[in-house]
Amino acid sequence: MQFCDDCGSMMHADEDAWRCSSCGNEEPRDMEAEEEMTTQNAQRDDGKPAVVDATRDSDEIVEEPCPADDCDSDQAEYEMMPKPGGSYEVRLFTCVECGHKWRD
Ligand SMILES: [Zn+2]
Ligand SMILES: [Zn+2]
Repeated sequence: MQFCDDCGSMMHADEDAWRCSSCGNEEPRDMEAEEEMTTQNAQRDDGKPAVVDATRDSDEIVEEPCPADDCDSDQAEYEMMPKPGGSYEVRLFTCVECGHKWRD
């Protein structure tokens, strides 16, 4: 909303100027300032893309004979598992052939 400096009447927007309908006074509209405000609001959410953590180790494959009777695989995925209730860790093997899991 803009009021005329000369007569105090309410001015109306006319293209790129404010125009007084009472005395004909004109004042330039500050279009750039209005646009800048809109642009800043639109660009506020400029967060950086989430970085995918690719450094996490995948399970290691180790030479370990599968204890399953019907499997002759000698390779298994190897995982260190923290034992519940303590800092002691157990080794968990998963056979790459049959998926059989066992502990050391
Ligand atoms: Zn006026
Ligand atoms: Zn197996």
